[in-house]
Amino acid sequence: MRDTVAQYLYIAAGLLFVFAIKWMTAPTTARRGVLAGEAGMLLAVVGTFVRPEITQYTWIVVGLMAGAAIGVPLAAFVPMTAMPQRTALSHAFGAAAATLVGVAEYILRQPHLDRFTMVVLSFEVLLGGLTVTGSLMAFAKLQGLIQGRPVTYRGQNIVNLSVLAIALTGIVWLAIDPSAAAVFAVVVVAAVVFGVLLIVPIGGADMPTVIALLNSYAGLSSVAMGFALDNKVLEIAGALDGSSGFILAVVMCRAMNRNFRNILFGAFGQVSASSKDAQADDRPVRSGNSIDGAAILDGARLVVIVPGYGMAVAQAQHKVRELSDALERNGSEVRFAIHPVAGRMPGHMNVLLAEADVPYDRMVELAEANDLLSRADVAIVIGANDVTNPAARTEPGSPVYGMPILDVDRAGSVLVIKRSMASGFAGIGNDLYHLPNTTMLFGDAKQVVGSLVSDLGENG
Ligand code: NAP
Repeated sequence: MRDTVAQYLYIAAGLLFVFAIKWMTAPTTARRGVLAGEAGMLLAVVGTFVRPEITQYTWIVVGLMAGAAIGVPLAAFVPMTAMPQRTALSHAFGAAAATLVGVAEYILRQPHLDRFTMVVLSFEVLLGGLTVTGSLMAFAKLQGLIQGRPVTYRGQNIVNLSVLAIALTGIVWLAIDPSAAAVFAVVVVAAVVFGVLLIVPIGGADMPTVIALLNSYAGLSSVAMGFALDNKVLEIAGALDGSSGFILAVVMCRAMNRNFRNILFGAFGQVSASSKDAQADDRPVRSGNSIDGAAILDGARLVVIVPGYGMAVAQAQHKVRELSDALERNGSEVRFAIHPVAGRMPGHMNVLLAEADVPYDRMVELAEANDLLSRADVAIVIGANDVTNPAARTEPGSPVYGMPILDVDRAGSVLVIKRSMASGFAGIGNDLYHLPNTTMLFGDAKQVVGSLVSDLGENG
């Protein structure tokens, strides 16, 4: 009876997870998606509590309390700008749980392990183990605890593939002889070492994509755990996690014009020798103040606002909303152009603008935005850099070459709000700042946008 109830709860949880992913694909339904995911997780936990093999709850409650003690402060206090590394840390915890369950099951089930379960457990600890250390390394790189640049050496791929080969050979060995505990230990150690080696050659620029990929590995590890424990909800949730993480990584690669082979083996993040150094560029730039900016905006029919990472750093989204309101009061039509990798995580700009109550129908995606930009009177670039860099179209040697960008340089006038001539994430200069139709408004985004709002008000 208890088992039947658990299975029904698992099916309900699985359905909620599917709907959660579906709803999270659009900003209008995303909140519902999050709630569905949370409800699904609650049902999955309750379903596990009622299973007949759970006979005492003390350690489960201790575990729940320990998890909440870590999770609640992480959710409450980590700033939006640190979200990629926070996600990496969560993956590390999830994968550590899967790995530890795999090791515990191996010990508990000896000496009656069948081949199928042995292979499944081996893949669980392989994927789980490499995700733990890989995610911790990604966290450390993004948090600046260790050097973010790629570290490469001769024969690196051979070393990495050898460690992976040791793990895979161990799995074959265990399939033949599941009692070889030392070999199981070797598989766990090889997985953990492989996780570190995998991330060492990858630069900070590719880290969010790698995190999506690690998410996928953690999901697949959970699928294996589901098979080992005969737990349907783990299989469903793991498969969803595994596939959605993989799809997200592919979408991000496309948006940055990168491919998987490069990310995993290419040491991206190194600045190419031919790319221009932002600081060393002594070509003239035209800079102005908020009064000049307001004058340029005065009378504009179509204004396209391009937010980027700097808006997130400055937490300027509410001021940006005020700017859009002020422009509309002045008779301008305003749209927000959202680049898929603006900021530091997928959907970063959508989340911030939604927080400031910018209506969803004002946000446009890349293709539509570029169409609007070619007709726009003014483009206002707020703390965005790489996603507007014309070198992506014109400079084959540039690290951003081929990346689809927002063509702000095609607007009648461009206002760029940033603090200095410093580069963005890719570490390269931006020709946009030297174009005759560009005016730089130097300063913190929140402050400059605030001044623009006041000056527009005075003009209006
Ligand atoms: P970006 O190229 O990193 O540039 C952000 C700019 O904001 C900087 O040049 C900086 O210039 C300015 N800034 C920083 N703090 C500011 C403040 N308080 N006020 C005003 N300006 C400020 O940002 P992006 O154009 O959004 O491009 C995102 C980059 O991240 C891309 O290279 C993308 O490939 C990469 N990336 C994104 C994702 C993702 O999922 N979104 C994932 C991986 C990689 P100053 O210092 O001069 O102010």
